[in-house]
Amino acid sequence: MTTYIESIVDTDATLDEADDLARAVVANLCDCGIILPTPQTHKFLANGPRYATGPNVLNAVDAINDCFPCGMDVSIGRNVYDTGQLGFELFCPNCKHRFDTEALDWTAPVGCWYDSGIVTHLECPKCSAPTSFTKWFSPPFGFGNLAFQFYEWFLKQEFVDHVSKLLHHQVIWVKAQY
Ligand SMILES: [Zn+2]
Repeated sequence: MTTYIESIVDTDATLDEADDLARAVVANLCDCGIILPTPQTHKFLANGPRYATGPNVLNAVDAINDCFPCGMDVSIGRNVYDTGQLGFELFCPNCKHRFDTEALDWTAPVGCWYDSGIVTHLECPKCSAPTSFTKWFSPPFGFGNLAFQFYEWFLKQEFVDHVSKLLHHQVIWVKAQY
């Protein structure tokens, strides 16, 4: 069985502020009835998402898969949010040239960031411009210390904007399948 996960990744939050920000977002989403304060449960599910789907979920999503892993998890700590089986291409943020994933060594900057939090640059083989490696993934990957992950929810843009406003930070919306 595949699992579809959408993540709202805060790319600005520091490790120190992630806990407080997570609490504020969870409190707001519980107040709005988007999530419930209790874990998602199901007879076939040993470890469901930490926050179950709430009665007003349709305010946040265009659609929801009616299957048991529905709900929200909060992830705190430096992490990479990729697209899983949905795949990706690389493209230069400067000249917009597209490359296949073998054309550049993108794993080294990702590993460096994961280990140290340092953002290094990738140099474009076409235009030679060095740009932050985090901007090269299409569809986008998220690199951050805080993320909200939604299982089998197909989010609305307005909801992603709402979470971004609650955080007062930029977010990256990552869609993945595993
Ligand atoms: Zn370029």
